[in-house]
Amino acid sequence: MLSSSNPAPMPPDLAPANTYPVLPLLSQESESVQRKMLADLSAALPNERIDLIDNFTTQQLAEVEVAIAANPTPAMFEQLPKLQWVQSMWAGVENMLEDAVLNQFKLVRLIDPKLTEAMAEAALTWTLYLHRRIPEYALLQRNRRWQQLDYKEANECRVSILGLGELGKRCATRLADNGFMVSGWSRNAKTLAGITCYAGSDGLAQMLKTTDILILLLPLTADTRALINKQSLALLPSKSSLINFSRGAVVDTNDLLQALNQGQLDHAVLDVFDTEPLPATSPLWHHERITVLPHVSALTDSASAANIAARHISTYRVTGALPSTVDLVQGY
Ligand code: NAP
Repeated sequence: MLSSSNPAPMPPDLAPANTYPVLPLLSQESESVQRKMLADLSAALPNERIDLIDNFTTQQLAEVEVAIAANPTPAMFEQLPKLQWVQSMWAGVENMLEDAVLNQFKLVRLIDPKLTEAMAEAALTWTLYLHRRIPEYALLQRNRRWQQLDYKEANECRVSILGLGELGKRCATRLADNGFMVSGWSRNAKTLAGITCYAGSDGLAQMLKTTDILILLLPLTADTRALINKQSLALLPSKSSLINFSRGAVVDTNDLLQALNQGQLDHAVLDVFDTEPLPATSPLWHHERITVLPHVSALTDSASAANIAARHISTYRVTGALPSTVDLVQGY
């Protein structure tokens, strides 16, 4: 029971407007992206005043407990002494982990069914691209060669996914629904209907040996950095392919290039890179066996993300409860 000096909190839709500290958007995105996000967030949170952190007064900065981040700079966090938690508008939060540890705030990443479905569609798209040998047909066309390549059915193609989290799990079921033989690997052992699940380093080796297309959907952590290297690539059957949707640094780029040049790996679809945008001088751009994508496999839908952020922030304003937060020690 609540005491009379601590009245029951008002539901967010009844709370008077503008009674909360101003909510900052921490972002170094383009002006048009920032404008769209502010509009979507303001529509989803009509009881809040939301503004770019650059427009805050010293007094307003001192009052901030919760912030929304879309590609922030470390300096932005340092201006917020009372910051308790940050809602990310992106699914991956690798670039904010260090700031969270240094500035001691909790981190909530975006889990959005729309983004998950976009990633599952990307997994299916690029798996089919490799399975139906589109890079090879594109090359044949460039050389004006009429040649029919061998065809395998989807149920003969073994697709393995590293990471069975929010995104990896859904990608696995989407691919299995489309007839592929799907396996997945995670830190903790899992059971997923229709998917062969592996865990631990022995499980990884076992899975890699029976893989035609390997999809990376791991967060970048101390354990996953350069996990795909000369040794792990050598476990793949020759002529297998790789799709990296996670983070560039999960793959050792030199080892990848070597595996492609030696024919151990047939093709790599890369959506993420050590440095983004990919520098014009990178050898990856014009490699015959590499498809370069500009980090587009699953983009944030601003309106949908704003609604999810709004639910979390409204609940926090009323109850003080946070949604589940990133484990800063584990790194994801
Ligand atoms: P998540 O829900 O946190 O899942 C991470 C998965 O990775 C979990 O299954 C986890 O295992 C597994 N994992 C982590 N460390 C591991 C290790 N050392 N060994 C084995 N498995 C390990 O993350 P998510 O939402 O699926 O997102 C995954 C990543 O996708 C993000 O971190 C981000 O880098 C990337 N992403 C890319 C795009 C893009 O457009 N390219 C968009 C969004 C996200 P447990 O289940 O056992 O914990």
